[in-house]
Amino acid sequence: PVVTRFAPSPTGYLHIGGARTALFNWLYARGRGGQFLLRIEDTDRARSTPEATEAILKGMAWLGLDHDGEVVSQFERAGRHTKVANEMLAKGHAYKCFSTQDEIAEFREAARAEGKSTLFRSPWRDTDPSTHPDAPFVVRLKAPRDGETVIEDAVQGKVTFRNDQLDDMICLRSDGTPTYMLAVVVDDHDMGVTHVIRGDDHLNNAARQKLVYEAMDWDVPVFAHIPLIHGPDGKKLSKRHGALRVEEYQAMGYPAPAMRNYLARLGWSHGDDEVFTDDQAKDWFDLGGIGKGAARFDFKKLDHVSGQHIGMMEADALISQVQDFLAVTDADALTEGQIEGLREALPFVRSGAKTIPQLLEKAHFILTQRPLEVEEKAAKNLDDVSRGILSELTPQLQTVSWKREELEAILNATAEAHDMGFGKLAAPLRAALAGRTATPSVFDMMLVLGREETLARLSEVSA
Ligand code: GLU
Repeated sequence: PVVTRFAPSPTGYLHIGGARTALFNWLYARGRGGQFLLRIEDTDRARSTPEATEAILKGMAWLGLDHDGEVVSQFERAGRHTKVANEMLAKGHAYKCFSTQDEIAEFREAARAEGKSTLFRSPWRDTDPSTHPDAPFVVRLKAPRDGETVIEDAVQGKVTFRNDQLDDMICLRSDGTPTYMLAVVVDDHDMGVTHVIRGDDHLNNAARQKLVYEAMDWDVPVFAHIPLIHGPDGKKLSKRHGALRVEEYQAMGYPAPAMRNYLARLGWSHGDDEVFTDDQAKDWFDLGGIGKGAARFDFKKLDHVSGQHIGMMEADALISQVQDFLAVTDADALTEGQIEGLREALPFVRSGAKTIPQLLEKAHFILTQRPLEVEEKAAKNLDDVSRGILSELTPQLQTVSWKREELEAILNATAEAHDMGFGKLAAPLRAALAGRTATPSVFDMMLVLGREETLARLSEVSA
């Protein structure tokens, strides 16, 4: 069975790159009936904060990346890591190194002077333990010096590291605490992780980590190192490009399913498919579809994908995304009445909206209440003449059957009678019905508002 994991360090918010890594792991597991685990790599006590863990969990929750089992704290597993280091010591796969910082610095200086590799080679590697001094030591892995370590990466292909260029990595520090590099391997092994999908900034670590698996005679997981995300200009992703916290995308009003879709396409492809559902993504996602080149973050594409999802989401799901959006932006939740109105208006207000604020803007007429606030620009369309014409319309609207064709007939006839284009008549109507100049079509609004509300809004502005 497939087991994947997301292993963020809780030193900051969940950014777009981390979110994508989590998504890939989630998709890979979910599409295969596997497990998706979450491990917080909080061994760096100085930089790890509970707030960051909280923010990561929140970001994942919004993105709908549910994980299996308990959240694992790496720090809490330190005892187990130490045990494994001691096991390696006992088996002769690791050794105690008593070299001091000064001695290591000296070694490097001498090597540099002789034009040799400055990779530290500990004199303690092959020293008889019975001659050990009573002094602080670190525990180092006894890494092979000959041959090569090969990572068969599912994305990068075969990556070869010369063993004479890898050092004997430290597993336990002189204060007895385990290193991050050791902890990752022990945790992945103990958690039964079969596939390690992570950023390619960890590719070099994979070689050293593989040596620990081999020393312990553990199965090496499949590695998939995914290229980093760049900006649309091909440069390293910066804030300006969209290297933002996941929450900021929520606050900009991108629905979570759209965000998942867009992030899935960042570095992974399935033919020409741009817009797809979660089920399709779970079915299609595989490591072979991950590209070797850096993915490019592009707000234009995100907007496009988002607009498509707003257009196709189930009404209930969309409304729940709207409520979440209002909550994170500290706005009032929609009332039952507003939800009902929005639901009715959805077929036309959702078309063309790329984000939730754009959707809400188009739905303003149904979400707002009398007395209507009329924007200044819209108020200009309510001069005496226009208001007179609206008053004229009222008796007709009182009796007409409330159907699109009938309404069209009345409005067209009125425009003609005043020798004005339809747009000239629509402008004061928009102002009266929505208090704005940019609104959905007046017919769409009138049909959703109904006769009573339409007449009430007209009478509010009438002469
Ligand atoms: N904690 C590491 C990071 O946040 C991830 C390590 C891993 O996935 O193996 O970059």
